[in-house]
Amino acid sequence: MVFGDWTPTAWTGRNKKDIKGGENKMTPEEWKEIVNFKPEENFGNPEKMNYRFMKFLDRFRAELRIPMIITCGTQGKHVTNSYHYQGRAVDFYLDTKMSLGAQVALIMDRLMETSLYYNTGLGVYPDWSKPGFHLDNRDYYARWGYKDGKELLFQEILEYV
Ligand SMILES: [Zn+2]
Repeated sequence: MVFGDWTPTAWTGRNKKDIKGGENKMTPEEWKEIVNFKPEENFGNPEKMNYRFMKFLDRFRAELRIPMIITCGTQGKHVTNSYHYQGRAVDFYLDTKMSLGAQVALIMDRLMETSLYYNTGLGVYPDWSKPGFHLDNRDYYARWGYKDGKELLFQEILEYV
């Protein structure tokens, strides 16, 4: 028994299975629980994705009701200690004609429906060939933008989208 076992699940997005953070990887059986994504999508190594993160992402996609195209999961190059390497982050874009600004507003709104709004990292990347987003379940609130090789405050990136 460690102290973390007491952590309420509703607002941290953790449960006992996830108590060691990034170690709880998706089994083929658990992938069958995921309704809106398949392991063949661009998750890198689907068996390195984190169970709690995938359950969250599945719920978020259901709330969103717009196709999410995953461009990156565990693969690629990221900052040291990136949530990507723990299987707790994806990069994606939305298959929609909505403006990026409208997409940001929609995503923020739908994140609220998952009850993990305050326990997520969300980055907005207008410079990608398909402008899109980074999303992770980091257990604290983080919002940012990235443009012209620089990290920007969320308020700043909203001026560009
Ligand atoms: Zn990312």
